[in-house]
Amino acid sequence: MSIRLLPPEIAGKIAAGEVVERPASVVKELVENSIDAEATEIRVEIADGGRRLIRVIDDGVGIPADEVELAFARHATSKLRTADDLHHIQTMGFRGEALASIAAIAHVTMLTRYVDEAIGTQLRLVGGAVVARERRGAPPGTTVTVEHLFYNTPARLKFLRQPATEAAHIQNVVTRYALAFPQRRFSLLSDNKLVFQTTGAGDRLEALLKLYGPDVARAMITMEPQEYRGVRVYGFISQPALNRANRSYMTLFVNSRWVHDNTLNYAVLQAYHTLLPQKRYPITVVFLEMDPELVDVNVHPTKAEVRFQNARDVFRAVERAVRGALVAQADVPTIEHLETGVPGWAHRRQSLLEAGRDEPGFTQESMRLPFPAGDRHRDLQVPPQRLPSGHLPEADETSLPMLRVVGQVSASYIVAEGPEGIFLIDQHAAHERILYERMMAQRAGGEVPRQSLLEPIPVTLSPVLAALAERERDALAHFGFEIEPFGPGTFLLRSVPAILSRGDPRQTFEDLLQSWEDERNRVAQAEEEALVRSICKRAAVKAGQVLSTAEMEEMIRQLEACRSPRTCPHGRPTMIHISASQLAREFGRR
Ligand code: ADP
Ligand code: MG
Repeated sequence: MSIRLLPPEIAGKIAAGEVVERPASVVKELVENSIDAEATEIRVEIADGGRRLIRVIDDGVGIPADEVELAFARHATSKLRTADDLHHIQTMGFRGEALASIAAIAHVTMLTRYVDEAIGTQLRLVGGAVVARERRGAPPGTTVTVEHLFYNTPARLKFLRQPATEAAHIQNVVTRYALAFPQRRFSLLSDNKLVFQTTGAGDRLEALLKLYGPDVARAMITMEPQEYRGVRVYGFISQPALNRANRSYMTLFVNSRWVHDNTLNYAVLQAYHTLLPQKRYPITVVFLEMDPELVDVNVHPTKAEVRFQNARDVFRAVERAVRGALVAQADVPTIEHLETGVPGWAHRRQSLLEAGRDEPGFTQESMRLPFPAGDRHRDLQVPPQRLPSGHLPEADETSLPMLRVVGQVSASYIVAEGPEGIFLIDQHAAHERILYERMMAQRAGGEVPRQSLLEPIPVTLSPVLAALAERERDALAHFGFEIEPFGPGTFLLRSVPAILSRGDPRQTFEDLLQSWEDERNRVAQAEEEALVRSICKRAAVKAGQVLSTAEMEEMIRQLEACRSPRTCPHGRPTMIHISASQLAREFGRR
């Protein structure tokens, strides 16, 4: 398609672009152009963090000789024709602004040869004005060289960070595109050193390994493609034990475009609900694919955000896929394949890990493959980063050492001693965790103990709660509430979960429906686990309840047996750990 100036009425519909923030923005735009030009090989060279030089070399279709100048005009693009095209954009670019914006604030040289032409064109621009043009021999494809970036915008120049920081931003960008386009070969050279390269063999894991290193790559779960209402979701998500202190490790691509979307990040977090400690975030790379008509990409200056027509479906699709992969795989390490000899992800993973042996930053520690039998699960889990003192223990996130009960404080906290110092345990949160895991296990086994009522009790509910009860009758029955419709808004309650058999059954049932509905409003669905969380919250011992030593010991034993003993089902910590060394430090012994 040839390059044309967009008519003003279309140009006006395009969100104003403020494209060039820092060197990484230039790289982003140039790489996107190479992708749109169907390049199979994209090479990025930078010097001084992009300040002195940014060069992107591709083997794409190139630009016809008589259109090279036009490519640098504002609102000149080969990717859009009519305003209608804006509704189903399949290319990375569409505004025809990037080259014009970059040329305006730098010295730019473009050497390009169009596929159907025998000779290339070289154009040099300074501050947006053409200063030289020549026809010359060139390989097919396009090379854009950007020098003296921000030479005429001192304010921007002043805000540039250290070259190493800018280079890191650039690497971030290039690795993200390598992840999104595994069929293309990417390389990045910084000050003449190769910092990153992919083979283009179609393996996203390869790019993931380059992005986060072998330790992380090894602890990632592969999410196989799953479709929900026209939204395809796949990617990589971390085992819950591998987590970070902020969201910057949550990456999202929509139709191969790297975007930021807080709502979808929330959907991912929702899927991890109860598995992560509070204020901790997973490492995720989630790809969404859907009909381009259903995504508006023209809403943000740097195209970093999109808008969905069916936002709810997209939310659910992401949450379901992530949850499904976690439930299915967080338990069963994919590394099993190594032993059974089934070729698959584990094999690729191992060969990649071995290939990564010579890479900088690759330590012996991360090469503990294959895992010792019987202890595989624990070995797979990468220890979390150090947490602030007085918070969760920094050791293994998922298991507890043997603890000895010392006593109770404020009728709310259990004091226990372990090999590595003191543990303060929130009795309510801990009990919630115990009950939650027990109930989920009972549910998986098909039977949640219930207490039948001597006489069925009629319960009249508000319309909202009645609708919920009606719709979720099966789920309620699974967890011990057997109900039967009995006139408008009224149900006969025949049983309650055994763990809630104390107290007024009618009140219990209504309260539970209410808290389930509350949670449902936050999450936009009535997932069964939310019901279980509500039940456990109500059934757990309360703060302020005095416990005997025997009761506390029993609770600690049960907590030790939990899979995620360190957080309650709502994600709050169940305990605070004060290490022996911390105590020694506080007392000035060290
Ligand atoms: P946009 O990508 O939004 O169309 P740009 O300013 O980035 O706008 O590029 C303008 C036009 O220049 C593109 O539409 C494309 O036709 C052409 N172009 C830019 N870079 C390349 C490249 N690497 N290979 C081929 N054509 C390119
Ligand atoms: Mg572009």
